[in-house]
Amino acid sequence: MKNIKDYDIEKLEEELLNLGEKKYRAEQIFKWIYKENAVSFDDMTNLSLDLRNKLKQNYSLGIYKILKKQVASDGTIKYLFDILDGNAIETVLMKYHHGYSLCVSSQIGCKMGCKFCASTGIAFIRSLSSGEIIEQLLAVERDENIKISNIVFMGIGEPLDNYDNVINAIRIINNPKGINIGARHISLSTSGLVPGIYRLADENIQCTLSISLHATNNEKRSKMMPINTKYNIEELLQACRDYITKTNRRVSFEYALAKDTNDNLDDAKELVKLLKGMLCHVNLIPINKIEKGEFTKSSNENILKFRDYLNDHGIVATVRRELGSDIDAACGQLRRKELKQ
Ligand code: SAH
Repeated sequence: MKNIKDYDIEKLEEELLNLGEKKYRAEQIFKWIYKENAVSFDDMTNLSLDLRNKLKQNYSLGIYKILKKQVASDGTIKYLFDILDGNAIETVLMKYHHGYSLCVSSQIGCKMGCKFCASTGIAFIRSLSSGEIIEQLLAVERDENIKISNIVFMGIGEPLDNYDNVINAIRIINNPKGINIGARHISLSTSGLVPGIYRLADENIQCTLSISLHATNNEKRSKMMPINTKYNIEELLQACRDYITKTNRRVSFEYALAKDTNDNLDDAKELVKLLKGMLCHVNLIPINKIEKGEFTKSSNENILKFRDYLNDHGIVATVRRELGSDIDAACGQLRRKELKQ
């Protein structure tokens, strides 16, 4: 059955016209789904019984089941959702002073093969539809009875490898008639799919683009991230410069610090050279250990030295807080699960 959350409002209007209904019903349905977080068409009491029945026959609301919910010592919550097709994905809720931030998955598994990331070691299954991306947020809001204020596309999967569904999801999340989270509160992180970055620059969405850089020369980056052999650092940074020129938005670079790999001051120097003059910010992530991973976290001392070097040389850098690592909910620790039925 079709998932009604896959449609933006214009597409839903078309669907309704095809069902012999009036266009304005789409706005009412949108309100039930995204403002009221309805779990059943029966709840949509301002629609005629006839329309509710038609909706039931033609669409599902794709409501997830919570298979597991783990709470970390810092309050971070990791959900394992049964996404109704025999697969399970993880989503992470983080609490900050300024509100709730949700880290969503965009694919079941990941094709990118980054050596330090747990999302990638197992077979890739498929991309999530926009409705499946959005339901992560709705399911968490229902469960915790909260409003989420920030969304980061930093869960399982490479968002730019699922371009159309991710953009459609962002538009529904951003739409004032939909979930209504401002684009500036939406971040998308990519391992560096260069054509996707050029496309994104033309979308006219004010979301934050994060780039997983992690190394300053091609030899090192290719070892950590195989995607670098397809789109190297020079091409990637050129795409970022073009993105900044077009959108006037600051790009965020993620750099996971691994001991004896990419964390000494020579690396910091190289990073300054690469990013000098760019409208950007560097997010340093103490690398999280994963099962069978070859990388270990840099010492706190090295992390701070690295950060200070960047800041002293004109590159704004902060260290990302480590949230949820005691329940494997931190960066790079999420993975798809199979359901044994
Ligand atoms: N595929 C996208 C989205 C994942 S975002 C991307 O690569 O950007 C998750 C962020 O966490 C990325 O910056 C990723 O490189 C980083 N990450 C992955 N594994 C990590 C680990 N073990 N420790 C710290 N950060 C990690």
